[in-house]
Amino acid sequence: YPPELVRNFSIIAHVDHGKSTLADRLLELTGTIKKGLGQPQYLDKLQVERERGITVKAQTATMFYKNIINGDDFKDGKESSNYLLNLIDTPGHVDFSYEVSRSLAACQGVLLVVDAAQGVQAQTVANFYLAFESNLAIIPVINKIDQPTADPDRVKGQLKSMFDLDPSDALLTSAKTGVGLEHVLPAVIERIPPPPGKSESSLRMLLLDSYFDEYRGVICHVAVVDGALRKGDKISSAATGKSYEAMDIGIMHPELTPTGILFTGQVGYVITGMRTTKEARIGDTIYHTKSTVDVEPLPGFKAAKHMVFSGLFPADGSDFEALSHAIEKLTCNDASVSVTKETSTALGLGFRCGFLGLLHMDVFHQRLEQEYGAHIISTVPTVPYIYEYSDGSKLEVQNPAALPSNPKQRVVACWEPTVIATIVMPSEYVGPVITLLSERRGEQLEYSFIDSQRVFMKYRLPLREIVIDFYNELKSITSGYASFDYEDSDYQPSDLVKLDILLNGQAVDAMATIVHNSKSYRVGRELVEKLKKVIDRQMFEIIIQAAIGSKIIARETVTAMRKNVLAKCYGGDITRKKKLLEKQKEGKKRMKRVGSVDVPQEAFHELLKVS
Ligand code: GDP
Ligand code: MG
Repeated sequence: YPPELVRNFSIIAHVDHGKSTLADRLLELTGTIKKGLGQPQYLDKLQVERERGITVKAQTATMFYKNIINGDDFKDGKESSNYLLNLIDTPGHVDFSYEVSRSLAACQGVLLVVDAAQGVQAQTVANFYLAFESNLAIIPVINKIDQPTADPDRVKGQLKSMFDLDPSDALLTSAKTGVGLEHVLPAVIERIPPPPGKSESSLRMLLLDSYFDEYRGVICHVAVVDGALRKGDKISSAATGKSYEAMDIGIMHPELTPTGILFTGQVGYVITGMRTTKEARIGDTIYHTKSTVDVEPLPGFKAAKHMVFSGLFPADGSDFEALSHAIEKLTCNDASVSVTKETSTALGLGFRCGFLGLLHMDVFHQRLEQEYGAHIISTVPTVPYIYEYSDGSKLEVQNPAALPSNPKQRVVACWEPTVIATIVMPSEYVGPVITLLSERRGEQLEYSFIDSQRVFMKYRLPLREIVIDFYNELKSITSGYASFDYEDSDYQPSDLVKLDILLNGQAVDAMATIVHNSKSYRVGRELVEKLKKVIDRQMFEIIIQAAIGSKIIARETVTAMRKNVLAKCYGGDITRKKKLLEKQKEGKKRMKRVGSVDVPQEAFHELLKVS
């Protein structure tokens, strides 16, 4: 397949607008997968992805397609050609926006899918600009036109006013009923240019993704930008300088199909004997080892930036080995999580993990529990702050517990990471949303109308303020009608303090947080109240305090259990006593002894809800 007969494209969409369903239909249409396999959404392979309806790991598939013009096999007396189409999937979530832009780097065009009823949403806007800035051909696809509330004309108007896309370019489809799907691939062939690479040049490949296979080791997904790759070639990585042999290469059709060669413009897989996916850096350039000197790396490789950190501890101290094993296995397939050992006085031995964002963290926790049966306690997520000390040194703080309790003495300045948030909502919710955003220390950058009923806003927000429970609150004040997306921005100076939680006078390291000074009293108050509700009465009084340095700012007391209450419970009835003891045993499993106080696991969950 010469490049003229290759098309590389991606489908981008706001979550739930039908990206995965459309991808499946296209794979069926080209006979790449069988119709109605009963396996919904072929490309969403992980259980969490199916459950949450999001794509975490990008997948790629090659399709073969004969472009038949006007139902006729011939055009101008020329037989229609067989095309090789690579559908390069992108993760559908902001946490993975770096991976999205890497995937797009291998494409020349996108299908921009918009739900015909919901219209343009926050991720539609964010994704559009990613594609637009990469100079990709954009084919608008208005999907779900079978819905009774579908209003394709209104969506066309939005596409025109927001993105200046010509309404007559929009394809109308239902990935559910199949209506309009026959126009999709012909549009891909006509409107998306072939890959521009040079066949005669030295090999340059973009590393798109990688995963670990029990039997075959690390499998890399690559896009051949220039030149060609043959089985047995010696190749090197620009990022790590390491060299490998291309032991097996081929295409994803959609399963791994060996071809022995990948030509310019093709997308496929390479197996090299890499030991871990940590060696396979997404966005890396790979070239022939012998041509090291004359090959310029492709632009834009950057290491994953961890924006959210949290401590992970076994719910039961003895499970440390099991947790350690589970984390090791899981990070084999997700090199974007950083892991270091952490010791907490309160929770014992555990790990500090860095994630790309909140969803990434949630998904990791969920996979640990679902796929590896690990029971974990996770501490309040924190963002990486930068502290500058009087001697001029700077420190990235990933763990509040690592800060001295009264940092003000030595710290001369603090910075916190911010994001640029995109929010789309019906205009009637503007008031409450603006209130929420100002409570979260947001600064409005842009405000405009998408059409007569929808508003689009851009805000700068401290990352910290969206990490904790922001999305749920936004959803709840807008009855689910607001959509939200964000991208990383600069560090900004900030007035930060460390908030300690004390149980019976002892600071609990795993409960420490860093908060903005203006909020410290309210947050301290709320944390203490929440903890009082979930910590059971014990044989002695428990004093719960919030403190900044040596200053106590909030206090609650859990009174001691009265002796006669116990006596009554443990009276005569033997079965009742047995039941109680069993119940106690069950409860114990979920308890963590912190100093002398039994703290239930849910206390840590409660802490996640205060911001
Ligand atoms: P994604 O998040 O963009 O990948 O969206 P999915 O493909 O997972 O689709 C989200 C939901 O919309 C699923 O329940 C699909 O069955 C449904 N869906 C997808 N396409 C259509 C369509 O054309 N019409 C209708 N009525 N539902 C659709
Ligand atoms: Mg999906």
